[in-house]
Amino acid sequence: MKVGWNDLFTKTFFAPPSVVPAWTSRMKKFREVAEGKFPLVETGKVPISEYAKVHCLELIEAVLELNKRGGVLDYGDTYVYEGSAEVLEAILGALYYGYQHLEDKIFYSPYGGLHHASRCEASGFCPLNDVAVLIQKATEEGKRVAYLDFDAHHGNGTQEIFYERDDVLTVSIHAYFPGFYPGTGHYSELGRGNGYGYSLNVPLPPWAGDEAYLKALELIVERAVNSFEPDLIVAQMGVDGHRGDPIGGVLNLTTNTYKRIGELLSSFGIPIIGAGGGGYGENSVRAMMAELIGLSGKEELWEEVREEPTRSPSEAIERVIAVKRFFESQVSWF
Ligand SMILES: [Zn+2]
Repeated sequence: MKVGWNDLFTKTFFAPPSVVPAWTSRMKKFREVAEGKFPLVETGKVPISEYAKVHCLELIEAVLELNKRGGVLDYGDTYVYEGSAEVLEAILGALYYGYQHLEDKIFYSPYGGLHHASRCEASGFCPLNDVAVLIQKATEEGKRVAYLDFDAHHGNGTQEIFYERDDVLTVSIHAYFPGFYPGTGHYSELGRGNGYGYSLNVPLPPWAGDEAYLKALELIVERAVNSFEPDLIVAQMGVDGHRGDPIGGVLNLTTNTYKRIGELLSSFGIPIIGAGGGGYGENSVRAMMAELIGLSGKEELWEEVREEPTRSPSEAIERVIAVKRFFESQVSWF
């Protein structure tokens, strides 16, 4: 297992100025805490033109234009600052490093997982979709890819890009209730055409808690990956569902969920490339460490970040079971 790092990760984020410090402080703190515990490797950049694998040229051009002076890309929450293009190159550079070293089995980058960007539209702090580019590259080389999205928000951009494909499975577990961004990710969104049955969504109610989340991992994610038999797993490992998070904390998750996500991923024995995803503030680092402990099996580090698991309301657990039954009735390969 290796953990990617580039000093550009602490430079900026693509959110409004009031949110950027919560991100850059998370990256700095991560570097501090991970150093010496996990094998950090310096990763480089790839040219921004690589994003054209999945994106409209107009969108990439808009990013490059704003990169000169700074500005807003969409209707108000996705920002590009001076020098942001270089950060986007470093984000993708880290994932490509992981892809070029699949023999390491597990690669994690704390930055990346800009899952809300769709083919031609930036959205939700995501100018361009790095994980989608990586998935596209892998499929061009004949790989079947399972994309697993653990961020508190639905991985709508990635889902849209691969919605008609049967060689890419997308699974997203997320909070879903009126007013919660982005408002998509209902369990009935299953894919289209050849892709029908290859987009799976597990929408959770607010305050879902660890118990319901662990059920979703066991009943849906584990089973889907085992049945789909991918060559590569690309994971969006956002930790903004942790109960201390100012943006997605409504899921009421603790480090127990994040450790289990890491353990489950490593148990598949398939190469994994994980991207850090959402998480706002230095507190996020506890959940990130829990994921890395799960991925690496370094149990001796657990005591430092261990928390009391949260129970779940019965409706949240019933929801997970109902979604599993729905998939059984609709998706023949599941
Ligand atoms: Zn998020």
